[in-house]
Amino acid sequence: MTLKPPPLRDDCFALPAGTHWTPVDEALGLLRERLGPVTGAETVPLAEALDRVLAEDVRALRANPPVANTAVDGYGLRHADVVEGPQVMPLVEGRAAAGDPYDGVLPAGHAVRVLTGAALPEGVDTVILQEDVTTDGVEIAFHGPLKKGANTRRAGEDVDAGDTLFEAGRRLGPADLALLAATGQDAVPVRARLRVAVLSTGDELAEAGSDARADQVYDANRPMLLAMITRFGFEPVDMGRAPDDRAALRKRLDEAAARADVILTSGGASAGDEDHMSALLQEAGAMNLWRIAVKPGRPLALGLWQGVPVFGLPGNPVAAMVCTLVFARPAMGLLAGQGWHEPMRIMLPAGFSKSKKPGRREYLRARLRDGRAEVFASEGSGRISGLSWAEGLVELPDGAMEVEIDTPVAFIPYAGFGL
Ligand code: AMP
Ligand code: MG
Repeated sequence: MTLKPPPLRDDCFALPAGTHWTPVDEALGLLRERLGPVTGAETVPLAEALDRVLAEDVRALRANPPVANTAVDGYGLRHADVVEGPQVMPLVEGRAAAGDPYDGVLPAGHAVRVLTGAALPEGVDTVILQEDVTTDGVEIAFHGPLKKGANTRRAGEDVDAGDTLFEAGRRLGPADLALLAATGQDAVPVRARLRVAVLSTGDELAEAGSDARADQVYDANRPMLLAMITRFGFEPVDMGRAPDDRAALRKRLDEAAARADVILTSGGASAGDEDHMSALLQEAGAMNLWRIAVKPGRPLALGLWQGVPVFGLPGNPVAAMVCTLVFARPAMGLLAGQGWHEPMRIMLPAGFSKSKKPGRREYLRARLRDGRAEVFASEGSGRISGLSWAEGLVELPDGAMEVEIDTPVAFIPYAGFGL
């Protein structure tokens, strides 16, 4: 009789009995409690400040706007001179333009030509839009009443000198650079960029583009993780690939610890024979295998290597990316001095149905189409194409959930993770 494979077990996708699987929130809570900034501070010019993390609170050196000015092209006047109904007012000679102020005081009963951004001439407290007047260049005719202060911007109405613009921990974006520049800053105190080493492990890995044996796979995690680090605003440190060999791995980790503030490895994180990452970290006496109740993502090996935190990510690219977004990113934010950041979740009607079992949180590759969150056809964690197809993840809660079309689900766009 020919051998028959054993039947599939009912519980083949069940969580192992008797093991404690840490819920995602508990794992995140532990990271949040235990990690803090590891980077020093320096001062950099604004031109180099994008994506940097403020090391101190920053205040406005100057008000914005510095003086009252006009928000439109029109005519400046004294509100007290305006009556109800149609009226005519003589224009003074000259005008006020941005960067070219009117010198002198506006005489009572007169109006003055003003252009957007011009400092309000002394005496002017209200501006009438040029579209609301007729003029021959000598007088203007218009209808009252006008609202006092109409079409003007008060000095400091945006921010006052001395106002706190940002608190320490802020990751500076393009708009922040505008505010800093507008209020007189040309340099800011920031933390050194967090250096993140990325190392791939596995005897089966070959470098993309090289002649690979049929049984080898190209290293997909490294380019992905290095790019994610860049998007997060950190400094990627490429540590290449290491074979499933303890001595070689040890040497590579030593090098990584010397060059980086945190190390991300992928592969070899479980407890199998070839799972040297977890074995090594265990040997160093500073490692925990976190069995987190999350799919995708086998155990996450967390440890310190020569004092440098190591995230031993799963080898499967989908699990490696999800675990980086969900666990490593907020942890690295703390190390970088940004504080703790929750990803931006958007509740959307589901464009799919799924009967979710209890016991672990699940992340599905998803995207937003026609107002609904649709998910990738396969949940296979080797399906890299699904990561590309997706524009974010749907997060399903730890408990059981019956998702039907239009059931509200939490969608986290990649951008919501800082990607
Ligand atoms: P491991 O976590 O080492 O057991 O690997 C799990 C699966 O992910 C295996 O199929 C590996 O071949 C695959 N894998 C591991 N590292 C990478 C990588 N850097 N790029 C692509 N696939 C990988
Ligand atoms: Mg491996």
